Amino acid sequence: MDVFSKAKRSEVMAAIRHQGNRSTERTFAALLRRFRVSGWTLHSSQVTGKPDFYFSKRRIAIFVDGCFWHGCPRCFQAPRHNAAFWAEKIERNRKRDQKVTRYLRRKGVEVIRVWEHDLEGRTRKVKTVIDFLRHPKHPREIGEIKGV
Ligand SMILES: [Zn+2]
Repeated sequence: MDVFSKAKRSEVMAAIRHQGNRSTERTFAALLRRFRVSGWTLHSSQVTGKPDFYFSKRRIAIFVDGCFWHGCPRCFQAPRHNAAFWAEKIERNRKRDQKVTRYLRRKGVEVIRVWEHDLEGRTRKVKTVIDFLRHPKHPREIGEIKGV
């Protein structure tokens, strides 16, 4: 038997997953520092969708998306408890992400979305994104890293 009530359980899970998002952000920030990529701000409220990282001069927005909250097609699994509720909530998040991406691109902002699992696994995609940020004049693989 679950020791938490339904509402409390949702709250607890939300807190745990929020924590996950934060650590993903910290991982990416640490990578940027290690490779001496500068010129970014965290959660710029000046920009639609409050990108996790925004490079104002270069007009690049980077979203580091938690696999749960943003409905990663590879990793997302609705919790067994309240499955329908979660599936619907996450679908709304996905729609909002897509809207934000389209809006920013129309405004001439380069949008890059990185999944939590890419960061955790230090995938090739992460390497490509960092390379792109270090050498903006050679966006040779920008198509590959855009995502969404
Ligand atoms: Zn994932």
